[in-house]
Amino acid sequence: MSQPVSQLINKLVCENLKTLVPYESARRLFAASDNTQDEQVPVWLNANESPYANDFAVKSDLFNRYPDCQPSAVINPYAAYAGVNHKQLLVSRGADEGIELLIRAFCTSGQDNILICPPTYGMYAISAETCNIGIHKAPLNTDFSLDLEAIKTFKDKVNLVFICSPNNPTGTSVAAEQIEQVLNHFIDSALVVVDEAYIEFDIDNTWASQLAKYPNLVVLRTLSKAFALAGLRCGFTIANEEVIHTLLKVIAPYPMPEPVAQIAAQALSEKGLLTMQQQVSAIQTEKDLLKKSLVSLGDIKLVGDDNANFILFRTAQKQALMNYLVSHKMFIRDQSKQLNLANCLRITVGSSAQNQQLLGLITSFYQQSGNQS
Ligand SMILES: *Cc1c(COP(=O)(O)O)cnc(C)c1O
Repeated sequence: MSQPVSQLINKLVCENLKTLVPYESARRLFAASDNTQDEQVPVWLNANESPYANDFAVKSDLFNRYPDCQPSAVINPYAAYAGVNHKQLLVSRGADEGIELLIRAFCTSGQDNILICPPTYGMYAISAETCNIGIHKAPLNTDFSLDLEAIKTFKDKVNLVFICSPNNPTGTSVAAEQIEQVLNHFIDSALVVVDEAYIEFDIDNTWASQLAKYPNLVVLRTLSKAFALAGLRCGFTIANEEVIHTLLKVIAPYPMPEPVAQIAAQALSEKGLLTMQQQVSAIQTEKDLLKKSLVSLGDIKLVGDDNANFILFRTAQKQALMNYLVSHKMFIRDQSKQLNLANCLRITVGSSAQNQQLLGLITSFYQQSGNQS
């Protein structure tokens, strides 16, 4: 059976998909380790999720109807929260769908290119590849600032410029003057997409208020990180009205399931926003504690900055440490394959108890490896 099927698939599959492999989500990477029979509770500090799981109520009386494409119960409070007009906002299945919609709407397959600045979030390149769009790279400087000179050489060669700030996985925020230069340089040739997935951890650096000044500015947001709703799949694209109007041409007719819209509306209520802000400030406190303890351990060196809900560090014993943590069902993320991040691991800030557990394990790892050497 399988032989004829694979022959058929090979014949039909899009040329640009042949070499691609499905996205390795943080969770999928460790699916096997999660299935072992022992009683240890796994701790997931590898996907920048929130440690908080908040309560929501769902009403089923509208489940027999198709949902609104852009439910005003979600759009209006988020527009108010972000300080934009509701026409400058699109809600989608996570910020990831926003990335894909931008690529599909503004890049012609087999012809156009995007620009990314690695090390950075992986989905820009993945979405471009699946859409058969070219990827140009202007790597970050060694201090993780933008290499403006390199970026500027791509004028008229790219349709979208992706800038992640705070950047995943370096935790660095891009200086306002740098983003301003990029916006001006590409003002009549490319959209500049500022990915603000972690902006609640660095709220003073948002670009959402600058739409009037820059027709080419796009800002991505999400409920997955600070709002503790990664499981909901709800993200936002903020841009000038005509950009949003164009994205509406490619979005699915019903991207927002009714239960998602109901829960998002609750998360964006006055009470929901207050909860989010309290949880962000608790995570910030935990982050500082975790950082202070980490630097006192073994050969750990912090890398980048901590403007989001994670900490990046370098250790010569990266693989042994990673194996040790996995064997104790403590999952953090290996970032060492990223450009200029050799031997780097990323820890998502968890609950106080989770962070203590992690520190305990790292401490005993370095004690053991110290004894051996
Ligand atoms: C997590 C993340 C996203 C994706 O957010 P979703 O709304 O869950 O799709 C986008 N950009 C960056 C930089 C992220 O880290």
